[in-house]
Amino acid sequence: MISCNHLVNKIKKLGFEFDIPRIRLAFEFANQAHEGQKRFSGDPYIIHPLEVAMRILDFHPDEDTVIAALLHDVSEDTDRTLDDIENVFGPGVRSLVRGMEKLSQVRSRVDEPEVENLRKMFLSMASDLRVIYIKLCDRWHNMETLAYVRPEKQRRIAQETLNIYVPIASRMGIYSIKANLEDLCFKFLNADMYKLIHEQLEFYTKQNTNFINTEKDTLTKFLHKRGYNCRVASRLKNQYSIYKKLKKKGRSLVSDLYDIYALRVIVSDDLEDKLYQILGEIHSTWSPLANRFKDYVAVSKPNGYQSLHTTVVGLGLEEFNRPVEIQIRTESMHRQAEFGAAAHWLYKYHENPDMYNSEKCLDWIHELKNVESSIKNNTEFIENLSMDMFNDRIFVLTPKGDVKDLPESSTPIDFAYAIHTDVGNHCVMAKVNDSVVPLDHELRSGDVVEVITKKDSEPNHYWLSFVVTSEAKSKIKSYLRNADPDKTFKEGRDVINKYLESIGKPVLDPDLLVLKRFKGANLNQKQRYTLVEEVAIGKFSVKDLIKDIYPMDLLVKPKTKKSVKNSKNIDFSKEILVDGQPVNFPVKKTNCCIFKLPEPIGGFVTRGSGVSVHNLKCKVFQNTDDERKIKLQWKDTQKSDMYVVDLSIEIQDRVGLLKDVVEVISSFGVNILDVSLRESSDSTKTLKLFSLAVKDYDQLVSLIMKLNVIENVIKVSKIN
Ligand code: MN
Repeated sequence: MISCNHLVNKIKKLGFEFDIPRIRLAFEFANQAHEGQKRFSGDPYIIHPLEVAMRILDFHPDEDTVIAALLHDVSEDTDRTLDDIENVFGPGVRSLVRGMEKLSQVRSRVDEPEVENLRKMFLSMASDLRVIYIKLCDRWHNMETLAYVRPEKQRRIAQETLNIYVPIASRMGIYSIKANLEDLCFKFLNADMYKLIHEQLEFYTKQNTNFINTEKDTLTKFLHKRGYNCRVASRLKNQYSIYKKLKKKGRSLVSDLYDIYALRVIVSDDLEDKLYQILGEIHSTWSPLANRFKDYVAVSKPNGYQSLHTTVVGLGLEEFNRPVEIQIRTESMHRQAEFGAAAHWLYKYHENPDMYNSEKCLDWIHELKNVESSIKNNTEFIENLSMDMFNDRIFVLTPKGDVKDLPESSTPIDFAYAIHTDVGNHCVMAKVNDSVVPLDHELRSGDVVEVITKKDSEPNHYWLSFVVTSEAKSKIKSYLRNADPDKTFKEGRDVINKYLESIGKPVLDPDLLVLKRFKGANLNQKQRYTLVEEVAIGKFSVKDLIKDIYPMDLLVKPKTKKSVKNSKNIDFSKEILVDGQPVNFPVKKTNCCIFKLPEPIGGFVTRGSGVSVHNLKCKVFQNTDDERKIKLQWKDTQKSDMYVVDLSIEIQDRVGLLKDVVEVISSFGVNILDVSLRESSDSTKTLKLFSLAVKDYDQLVSLIMKLNVIENVIKVSKIN
């Protein structure tokens, strides 16, 4: 039975300079955690993580990846936690194991229409490529031991593997795993056909071994005689591919296909520019079949695969003269075809341990983009792999494991409407990963979202301010529109009044006189009434309405900058920007100038001692060489567009309330200039005064709206 020594030996054989005691410690940790657990095969559980770690080694991973492979089932299946793992092996290993945990949520039952989403979700959730490699090896070993599992489960797992794991392995160009997984799935999903092909193939191989060896020898001698440093190998098509090909051609006999096996000429990397020459020599000796030549070197396959393919006649024994497929490639191309382009790249990184250990390089995904130039002609591969392509979409799950694909920033309400209009219309509460969240909570990929509905609950206007999907928006609007007109008016009035109060203005009077002039027109009473209704049904936003009736005068520009800083106190390197960026060169102040904060400045590039800073008015500066002047700005003047606003927030205190308020404010990127407390006439309530620097009116109104829905916030009003 496989043991930790096998793993250590393989590491040594591959020449990886890993911390062996740390690897052994990880093994012991996993072994103890899984103590007493058994696989369905009857083997001790530890065999599984050990197998996964063995397999991952072929991809030339870093040490943490091997450790994570050993620990990958610990946090989910034993009483050891992620914290325990982090305590012993550090945060890097923790996040890999956590990544594995997250991926186990992606489940696929049948060949469902959402299967493409599942694949995307899988990729987007594995924010670290290493997790995908571990997961593929994990699945590979589980598929190999699938025979011990109940038959229904066998089918489910095999189908899921075919739906998700095979396409991903294929997209990443990992032929070794793809072919193995395919054949295993085939075996469990179509046992009869598998048996039929398997038997034929065994027979075929037995019959043909001699011929194949003769062809291989002939070709090897031919190439060695011409001085090429190369080896020739034969490869058998995998069974699932044979099955697909037979099906496509409407045949049933394996021997009807003539590319069941191919010869592979693998040349040393320095012969890359000789590939076409080798092809030419082969073609001039044996006749190529027309239309069988494929150049995947000049134009590689989307997953990065590179090779020259041709089929020739006459290579074999004379009495057995059939076409033979020949694939010509370099060692690197071969490695890439077996293990994927990413592994190929890692392999190169491995030669440079310093770079390899750097924190930067741990984020393979980001680094992959930089490799784009080094792996030619496979921009599509990079695109397919880049997690960024999913940045504007998130994938969330129902408690049953169904996947919903939503735009970024979607909320439980968007999710509820994506399930069903009724679920959206009656949504009262949402749980994300088992915790209750506000309905405007921003969902993230991988969240499990549960919506709780109540029959008599209805959508409200606040929802319109945060939902993201057009589906949710239009359904909320249509619901509000169909509501009772009198009620609609009252709702509109309440919404408007709430915000009028928030900004310190009087509420609507019965005649709605404040709405008399709107968008440059005079409105009669009926029109004013309609306008309020339109706010209620979401046709018109309350924000736009208030903006129109109380334009920008609501915001007060800050008084002139508080301090005219004395030049002695200015730390130039921190307060100055070049082209909006912090300076990264030495700056020094000059004695000729006085600096007053918003007054413009300029820099002069000295010979050898960085940049000296001058007031633009400075005569000395004005007389210096123009070519050596650079533009500088004060950092602070960039913020001069800010408006200072005082908000009073009336609250009924509870634990964590102030923290919630501050969090909402900072989520808008708004600076809190000052906070103070004011006595309230009612002793159960408190008033907090916040002095804030806001960017614009929109930001202020959105902030007020959001503050208003915090639990135990009674009223928010603007007071200056
Ligand atoms: Mn596992």
